[in-house]
Amino acid sequence: MAPGLSDEVKYLKGVGPQRAVMLAQRGIQCVEDLLYYLPFRYEDRTQFSKIREIQPGGTHTILAEVVSGGLVRFARGRNAIYHLAVRDAGPVQPGLLHCRFFHGGYLEGKLKTGQRMVLHGKADIDPYRPTRIEMINPQMELLSGDGATDSTEVGRIVPIYEAIGGMSSRTLRRVIYGALQGLDATLPDPLPKSMLERLWNTPAFSGRLPSKRDAIAQTHFPPPQEDLETLNAFRSRAQQRLILEEFFYYQLGLALQRQKTRRETGIAFRVREDRIREAVKRVLPFKPTGAQKRVLGEIAADMERPAPMHRLLQGDVGSGKTIVALEAATIAIENGYQTALMAPTEILAVQHYLSARRVYARAGYRVELLISGLPAREKKAARERVAKGTAQFIVGTHAVIEEAVKFARLGLVIVDEQHRFGVMQRKQLIEKGVGREKGQPHPDVLVMTATPIPRTLSLTMYGDLDVSVIDELPPGRTPIETRVTTEHHLPGVWEFVRSEVARGRQAYVIYPVIEESKQELKAATAEYERLSKQAWPRLRVGLLHGRMRSEEKEDVMERFRKGEIQILVSTTVIEVGVDVPNATVMVVEHAERFGLAQLHQLRGRIGRGSEKSHCILVSPKKPTEEAKRRLDTMAETTDGFKIAEMDLQLRGPGEFFGTRQHGELGFQVASPLRDKELLELARREAFALVENPREESEVKRLVAYLGPKWQRRYQLARVG
Ligand code: ADP
Ligand code: MG
Repeated sequence: MAPGLSDEVKYLKGVGPQRAVMLAQRGIQCVEDLLYYLPFRYEDRTQFSKIREIQPGGTHTILAEVVSGGLVRFARGRNAIYHLAVRDAGPVQPGLLHCRFFHGGYLEGKLKTGQRMVLHGKADIDPYRPTRIEMINPQMELLSGDGATDSTEVGRIVPIYEAIGGMSSRTLRRVIYGALQGLDATLPDPLPKSMLERLWNTPAFSGRLPSKRDAIAQTHFPPPQEDLETLNAFRSRAQQRLILEEFFYYQLGLALQRQKTRRETGIAFRVREDRIREAVKRVLPFKPTGAQKRVLGEIAADMERPAPMHRLLQGDVGSGKTIVALEAATIAIENGYQTALMAPTEILAVQHYLSARRVYARAGYRVELLISGLPAREKKAARERVAKGTAQFIVGTHAVIEEAVKFARLGLVIVDEQHRFGVMQRKQLIEKGVGREKGQPHPDVLVMTATPIPRTLSLTMYGDLDVSVIDELPPGRTPIETRVTTEHHLPGVWEFVRSEVARGRQAYVIYPVIEESKQELKAATAEYERLSKQAWPRLRVGLLHGRMRSEEKEDVMERFRKGEIQILVSTTVIEVGVDVPNATVMVVEHAERFGLAQLHQLRGRIGRGSEKSHCILVSPKKPTEEAKRRLDTMAETTDGFKIAEMDLQLRGPGEFFGTRQHGELGFQVASPLRDKELLELARREAFALVENPREESEVKRLVAYLGPKWQRRYQLARVG
């Protein structure tokens, strides 16, 4: 009996209960799940490189046979190095290839002379024996006994899968091959027919793409005429077909989310009255930039509409998002509603609280602070003021605002520095509507982020939100000068800090950890002791880190803001949002440890006034190649957009957004960065379909087909 798509994987040949458990841990339960577990790379095993043809620096695939292998004598245990010598498989050819496997203990006793394998990796010159070419940690796939090699292993373009638990690429390939053999000649294909017919005639495709069944089969086992490079770029027609499908369903989910929001009852704020315009103008401490004006216009237009606003406000560090948020809050407050502003850290919440107090002083709005550090009695009183409606502008940390706070009349929710919260948290937050009582309208939601996200990614991450961008910095900023240096030069760095402080400026010195640990990283507390005694005995040095009590933190920040503390030794607690314009020096020790986004945020703490600012990134003598690229990027540009692009390149979108557990943003074949055009196209199609009232039954059909599991994956969960 051929396996059906919805059959459990454990009934497939070669799977069994144990492997079924491993697969389930990866979310693979039924045959269909397995068929959508796609190769991440392909190898052309119709032709292999001969060992004597190998060039240093080149990447090669070799059909090889073991000559000898064993652990290197001086490196055992955890750091074992396995040395393997192979020759070309088949008729005896001249030449040996040497391979070294670091952490290779597991190979001991596994490989026999004459054993056949496929090796894939980059060749280099052996640094100790310059006449020898070697491969370090090549990918190795053992082949079954000679002759008996089945057609999935060699003699074709072979798919390479990421191993799952104990299931190697080779095992997965066999199981998937088996599953495909039994697959029906046709598979239901729910993508709207009319859409496909139309798309196939556009220049993007110029002709029909394979059916869903063929697309799946050919993505696993490409036909012989397929081009290897095209496959590895995921641009074969079969792959494109699957990518289109995946994006389409995802965007359909977003389109439905958005439609749902638009149909909810929100608040139609009055914004055009003179009284309100005056109030908004009054809170402005300075002339807004063109970008700030435009963005406020977009927000005000949303607020005026009866449907709830769901808008993303994007702007680089220091571009002036806070004041825009306070202006939006003014509209809500003047309409008799409350505004809640949620910040990712207490320090930031306190800072927003202080600037709101300052900005709203003349207007006389009642500003409330809600953080966990407040004494219980004060917190209770504050909550009562929120519930009664006497508090008008409420600032706090995410957790504290969510935790059972009832608002009398919540009109606007502002989420600051959203990228720290994660996608799912935002969803929950918006869905929950923060303290909304039954029967009350949905508040407007404004999400602010300083991560400048390339458009294709924001279509994915924030695809259900409208987007406003502040693409201009306030006037009078002098560019920050960034220097990369090594520990060796620290005395000079401390001397430089001293001279800047002597000129009335302030400085930050950042460490990666609070206390000393085995990792041999310098720690904030110990360095604070050392620096304040040895480097700057006569200066006022302060210490700040996340494990201090709230009042202590506030007190230190307050003294730094006032200039009483001249040099602040800190961990990354000050990473986001902190705004002290007189601070012009940022020293980051162990800069090699920090990601680009973090370094950019840290550097964003300076360059906020008109004085010239200096960022000094300190690392040990030899940072890794990747760390070096990060540091060089920082030295080259202060453009958050460029930095984000580089960050994405280096880390991939999953890590970039800290959503690694969801894979590359939860996609299986598609990649928002690589497949930009298909993403845009799928988005247009999905949104057009949902917005077209005549297609209502088509949309219902799709949602029903996708079923609960897919609905969840494509964020369709609460639709229908
Ligand atoms: P971010 O976008 O990083 O949250 P902030 O709102 O903290 O930026 O603003 C950065 C600094 O620039 C603050 O000190 C703020 O007072 C100042 N600022 C904002 N807008 C303007 C403006 N239009 N003109 C002058 N200074 C401004
Ligand atoms: Mg900010």
